Parts: sequence; structure tokens; C-alpha cells
Amino acid sequence: MEISVARKRLEEMRADLERTVSVLMGEHPLARGGGAEAGDAGANLTEADRNAASVQAALAQRAEVIAALARVDDGSYGRCVDCGSPVPEPRLEVRPATARCVPCQGKRDRRR
Ligand SMILES: [Zn+2]
Repeated sequence: MEISVARKRLEEMRADLERTVSVLMGEHPLARGGGAEAGDAGANLTEADRNAASVQAALAQRAEVIAALARVDDGSYGRCVDCGSPVPEPRLEVRPATARCVPCQGKRDRRR
């Protein structure tokens, strides 16, 4: 993948994720603070929890995308951050923000 194409895709992903986060936070402005006011602790709680989880997931993805953009800038994009070997093109096509080759990602996932 051309580096300019990768950059463009990453910038679009970042914009999408920022929209997602602001929509989620806009719908449930209290979600992060626990939200439950007196008498409101029941039915809405699960939805608020789920919403907070979605915000967290979107923020984590956004951090991944921003880190990938930094690697575009310093010229290391497309190489595994752990072992330095090239990340296969098809993997980058599917996940442009990916930081690791398949074996290193596998090792990392198993550690979690
Ligand atoms: Zn690797």
C-alpha cells in the first residue's frame, strides 16, 4: 500500500472514531461519571455501562490509529513494532492501524 494511501485511510479512520466518541458521549453525557442520579439507578445503568465500554473501545482504536500515523511520519509504518519485520500487505489492508506482524500480535494477545 502506498504510504500516502495509508495516511489518508488512517486520517479518515481517526475522523470517524472522533465522531463516534463525540456521538456516544453526547448521547450519554453522564455515562463516565457513573451517571445514576437518585432514583435513576435501575434500568439505565446497563445501557450507560455499555455506552462507556463503547467509548473506551473507540478511544483505544483512536490511540492505535494515532500511533500508526506517527509511524507514517517517522518512516517506520508497515514494520512490526516488536520484531521490525515487514507487516504483510494484506494484513495492513484489513487493519491499517495494526502495529505488529501476526506472530507478534499472537504472542501479545496470549499474554493478556
Ligand atoms: Zn513482529
